[in-house]
Amino acid sequence: MNHTIQYLQSDAAERGIEIGVLVNSLILDAITAKASDIHIEPWESTLAVRVRLSGVLTELVHLPLDLMEKISGRFKVMANLVTYQTDLPQEGHASAGPELGGVELRISIFPTTRGEKIVVRLFDPSNRSFDMAALGFDDDTHKSLTELLARPNGLILLTGPTGSGKTTAIYSALYHIVQRSGPAVSISTVEDPVEFNLPMISQAQINPLQEFTYPKALRSLMRQDPQVIMVGEIRDAETASIAVQAGLTGHLIISTIHSGIAAGVFARLINMDIEPFLLASSINAVLGIRLIRKNCTYCSQPYKPEPALTRLMPDELVATTEFRRGTGCAECLQTGFAGRTAVTELLVADEVFRDAVLQKLPTRQLHQIAVQQGMQTMWQNGVRRVVAGQTTLEEILRVVSADQM
Ligand SMILES: [Zn+2]
Repeated sequence: MNHTIQYLQSDAAERGIEIGVLVNSLILDAITAKASDIHIEPWESTLAVRVRLSGVLTELVHLPLDLMEKISGRFKVMANLVTYQTDLPQEGHASAGPELGGVELRISIFPTTRGEKIVVRLFDPSNRSFDMAALGFDDDTHKSLTELLARPNGLILLTGPTGSGKTTAIYSALYHIVQRSGPAVSISTVEDPVEFNLPMISQAQINPLQEFTYPKALRSLMRQDPQVIMVGEIRDAETASIAVQAGLTGHLIISTIHSGIAAGVFARLINMDIEPFLLASSINAVLGIRLIRKNCTYCSQPYKPEPALTRLMPDELVATTEFRRGTGCAECLQTGFAGRTAVTELLVADEVFRDAVLQKLPTRQLHQIAVQQGMQTMWQNGVRRVVAGQTTLEEILRVVSADQM
């Protein structure tokens, strides 16, 4: 499996390492392992190469430190960066070429005191599915989301930290609309950056250096007669204001916003000077999302979690649940986990909830009202995964904090 080690031990490498072949081997190893990122980092006595597998960094190989400049030089050539520049950060894109399956690379080079640290994010088109059913959402959430995507106007906001699966979920939602409506719908996106090119969708990438910002792009887009607009992220008052106006004037807006829990989005937008009555009438739903690791099916076995943890679950559920966890095997590289899935909380704004937003109630109360109106919290959704034996209680608590219960 480890192409890099095979290459380093080959006769060809013995005669002199070819940097192009070495770098390709590293990328191939990362793709084979289904890694999301490669980290190449000068440590004290080696050049450490690690890959991120299911969200966790894992050592791939250690290379001699004197290869550092050649390797960063190679990546700079691939991404059209300035090769002699070593003391400033640089970023670029590259395609890994057909022999590596056309994987897209986002390359970031950062000067550290020991030399340049290279992080390569991999986007493997063959490994990415934009099927909504493949997101791992439970049936209720999937069904509600499908209904929400059929509405002609209003906002659907996704919230979750970096790497929580928001981008995949948004792309899947757009892809769903394309499949449902075909050429009858006009869809535009403004993103930072565009991670994938989707069929039948006009995608644009903002470029703040050229003053092509979210607000500027959105204002211009409104004259492009779109029906569905995806905004990469709402992070300033101006973008928020245009997005809300667009949602009120006959457009379906899908975007992301930073917030701990789904109900927290409203306070966040009020802090961006959006009037509560505008939020109450424009926001259709907020989807909170996190990724959890799934138990490896080859080595998962019953176990007993700490009482301090099971105490967080309803007693009757604890009594009837067979808790399972992976014990580690060759299939899962001894991690006990294999693959990831999403846990979610979908807050659908109904009349009662919209009323509560109008009254400018604090986040905690909005959360409680959403629960009363039928929202399953992220914690409850996670516990369902534990009960089904899909993951451990510890894993849910890694991504869901106590205030989300
Ligand atoms: Zn296993």
